[in-house]
Amino acid sequence: MYLYNSATRKKELFVPNHPDIVKMYTCGPTVYHFAHIGNLRSYIMEDILDRYLRYSGYNLKRVMNITDVGHLTSDADEGEDKMLKGARREHKSVMEIAQFYTDAFFSDCAKLGIRTPDVVEPATNCIDDYIKIISKLMDTGYAYFAGGNVYFDTSRLERYYVFNDFNAEDLDVGVREGVEEDTNKRNKNDFVLWFTKSKFEDQALKWDSPWGVGYPGWHIECSGISMKHLGEDLDIHCGGIDNAFPHHTNEIAQSESYLGHKWCNYWMHVLHLNTNDGKMSKSKGEFLTVSLLEEKGYDPRAYRFFCLQSHYRKSLVFTWENLDNAQLAYNKLIARIAALKPGDGTIDKPVVAELKEKFCKALDNDLNTSLAVTALYDVLKAPTNDETKLFVIRDFDRVLSLDLMAKADKKREELKKEAVAAGEFTIVSESGEADAEIEAKLRARQDAKKAKNFAEADRIRGELKDAGIELTDIPHGVKWKRL
Ligand code: AMP
Ligand code: ZN
Repeated sequence: MYLYNSATRKKELFVPNHPDIVKMYTCGPTVYHFAHIGNLRSYIMEDILDRYLRYSGYNLKRVMNITDVGHLTSDADEGEDKMLKGARREHKSVMEIAQFYTDAFFSDCAKLGIRTPDVVEPATNCIDDYIKIISKLMDTGYAYFAGGNVYFDTSRLERYYVFNDFNAEDLDVGVREGVEEDTNKRNKNDFVLWFTKSKFEDQALKWDSPWGVGYPGWHIECSGISMKHLGEDLDIHCGGIDNAFPHHTNEIAQSESYLGHKWCNYWMHVLHLNTNDGKMSKSKGEFLTVSLLEEKGYDPRAYRFFCLQSHYRKSLVFTWENLDNAQLAYNKLIARIAALKPGDGTIDKPVVAELKEKFCKALDNDLNTSLAVTALYDVLKAPTNDETKLFVIRDFDRVLSLDLMAKADKKREELKKEAVAAGEFTIVSESGEADAEIEAKLRARQDAKKAKNFAEADRIRGELKDAGIELTDIPHGVKWKRL
């Protein structure tokens, strides 16, 4: 499998560090508000990577943090703690806010078919882990204490910018208008590892530390949580593109200074979902959530389908028209799958292998999900029986997670009910099994009855009886079961 690595700016063959495990870390949500569908684009695409690694046979261990402290309104350690802002907005405690929005996040993920990572760790659970790392960074001179806070000294590094395709000035965390410059910092890009003196005095959550009562910076959380659960090395680290700088840059700076060796091999960044007027953001007030999509009658999986139709390394523009098109295409796809007849033929293994090859080739090429979706449509067109098609679609959906089989089953049931209501001849199998040969005989018997050829109808019933099939006539159809 080839993955684009933001750290080297190349597509690279994926080779895990260890033969028996793949270690993956994902930056989790800051739980001060609902996730918007932009955030969820990142989680959907990371979920594809998670699922495809498992599908390819890797033993994946995936860890995600929940940021419930330390993430200030500006990623440059300025402003106030987003959690506190959320708590104040809703007249609740920080922990209440954290619990509520963590639950909301996983409920959205479930609706979008996103797996919950193997380990989900709230940042507030791991204070000792951060203190251990910061203590060593202080001892080795990578960190300094100034004005009540502990800072990482970026001037100690030979190479600080890892992801930058641009010049250093473009990436410097500038001091924003209306935010006071932190004069404690020795260098512009130094960042806080531990706050005791914040820009605000009413921080709700505080812990004792060698540097005084305070709380961790946002960046140290991900290094600490990753090392706690995955040890001293990491295969893949992912997040949205805005995390590349300064967050991931700072994670690398502090982790590698602490460990004394390389930390993570592959960095995967998902480009943003934008609206016509720019990047979607929680701070913009009104933003799009999964619940809003549902209220407007969209299926959350249609949004997932929309995301899969474009590559994760391209920014994606959200419009209602685009979502309408995705919903329509998704409905058509389900209808086509529902039209396939379970039990029609036996699984054709060479065809399965051929279809799977195309699907894997797409995903092996830096997760080309739009080509993987094309491979799914190819299954519908393949010159093979329905049972084989259904087998392959079920298999692909282990990665795509579009809920195709359950939705198609539901659609099939609906169609049956509609047919009954319309007085059409329907065949019901008591066990739910479908058998094309039996169904053909039942239709022939029905045709015979219609033509008043009762002898032929009885002959067919007898033939089926001899084969161990019992029939019961029902209004507008027939029910059958194996004896
Ligand atoms: P947050 O909850 O703000 O910490 O962000 C959660 C994740 O969503 C991070 O990986 C961000 O990089 C990512 N993210 C933020 N905005 C967008 C966006 N508009 N499109 C895609 N991903 C985003
Ligand atoms: Zn992170």
